[in-house]
Amino acid sequence: MGKRIMIVDDSRAVAFQVSGMLEDTEYEVVACCQSGEDAIAEYEVIQPDLVTMDIIMPGMDGLETAHAILEEHPDAKIVMMSSLAYEDTLKEASEIGAKAFIYKPFDRKELLSTLDRVLSEN
Ligand SMILES: [Mg+2]
Repeated sequence: MGKRIMIVDDSRAVAFQVSGMLEDTEYEVVACCQSGEDAIAEYEVIQPDLVTMDIIMPGMDGLETAHAILEEHPDAKIVMMSSLAYEDTLKEASEIGAKAFIYKPFDRKELLSTLDRVLSEN
């Protein structure tokens, strides 16, 4: 069975791009959320295998959202995705419990190798 992926990004263009990169792979995009608030609600319903999480979004940002999801679901697999590359941001992401960080822009190979790695960890 395909691994179920939830994409969280306020940019529809990015969500579309990620979905496109996951076409014809073992990954299936089961939800796209454009806000942290939606992501928290959808996570409960969908229980995806992995979440890709943008950081800069209006309202709750991706770090706050990831934190909220991980508090309820410590085993959630969340990959942060951002063009933000400050050391503090990376540190915060890993302290919260995010499994990986992908810098935008990224290519298909990088995305797939990161998802493969995170989903093969336990
Ligand atoms: Mg954004």
